[in-house]
Amino acid sequence: MRRLAFSLLMGGAAHTLVCWLILQWGFFRGGATVFYALFGTIWAGHLGLLLFARTGLNRRLNNPAMTEPVMIWCILTLLASALYLDQGRLAVMAFFFAILHQGVFRVRRRQVARAAALAVAGYALVLLYLNARGDLAQPLLEAGQWLLFSLVTLAMVLLASEITTIRLRLRERNGQLAELLERIQDLAVKDELTGLYSRRHAMELLAKACGQARRGAFLLAVGFVDLDHFKRINDRHGHLFGDQVLVRFAELTRRYLGDKDMAARLGGEEFLIMLPVMDMEQALTSVERLMSALRAQRFMAAPALEVTASVGLTVVGHGESPDEVLVRADRLLYQAKAAGRDRIITAGPP
Ligand code: GH3
Ligand code: MG
Ligand code: MG
Repeated sequence: MRRLAFSLLMGGAAHTLVCWLILQWGFFRGGATVFYALFGTIWAGHLGLLLFARTGLNRRLNNPAMTEPVMIWCILTLLASALYLDQGRLAVMAFFFAILHQGVFRVRRRQVARAAALAVAGYALVLLYLNARGDLAQPLLEAGQWLLFSLVTLAMVLLASEITTIRLRLRERNGQLAELLERIQDLAVKDELTGLYSRRHAMELLAKACGQARRGAFLLAVGFVDLDHFKRINDRHGHLFGDQVLVRFAELTRRYLGDKDMAARLGGEEFLIMLPVMDMEQALTSVERLMSALRAQRFMAAPALEVTASVGLTVVGHGESPDEVLVRADRLLYQAKAAGRDRIITAGPP
């Protein structure tokens, strides 16, 4: 809107001023009456366009910026005034380059070429019409000026085309960059095999959660999960199968943990889960459900296999650091392993 107002008001004012000077010097055919009638109409059009954009009606158009229609309208105003000039026609037509300049960065190559064709052909028609009426004092000079105008216009269209190529290439490059950035962010945040959060991101989340003294009525439960005898699973069924087990476990966390819960793969077959809960009881229920689901999993390649895990589960105490919480969860996990695996050992903060 601001750009449209600027081009129409400034461009219109400059155009009007030059023609008004030509009128003062006595080279505007038809004199003041024609001048005021013509520029009254032109300004009515300018203001009409601005009003149209101001009311927001332009948003219903395919291209709300209205760049091409505005360009065409401005070219028509130049051509209309060129009909009445006995001197300075080229100077007035040269305003077209300002119009073209407005369009280069905003419309397609084809539209720029169309506007240029309209200006060149319109200018020629104006001259032919005036010549037919015998109103051209120096037809040869006028033809030479038209030729000059056409050549400069051609040069500008070629330049515009080159600029458009660069513009499109830049846009494409920007798209690729945005995609890459998203991928990099994904890689930083997610584990590639399971799609769970990465260790790094899990640590950031845990640090943030520990930083918030209290989350309303909620406690944060933190669980260290380690699949049992995973080395043996790998050895018996192969590393690829082991990977499938890890992916299956990740799927289970997505299915059995709540929206507000979080699971991360710390590395290997070790996972961290974080659950906002009312109390330890609730956390235990959630994790038990997850563990039962894991135990109930059946794998095509190893129908008899029962995968289990050991868990150290605790809740974050007041003012505890992430490290304190992790050390405790790790100790609880170790106890679960030592006690025979396939179990959850819990403890609150000291
Ligand atoms: P425990 O019950 O004491 O936890 O025994 P475990 O065999 O699970 O424990 P350990 O930590 O000794 O073995 C973990 C194994 O996990 C060793 C390693 O080969 C395997 N492992 C680590 N990362 C991956 C992975 O990305 N894919 C697969 N398939 N195996 C992995
Ligand atoms: Mg392990
Ligand atoms: Mg293990």
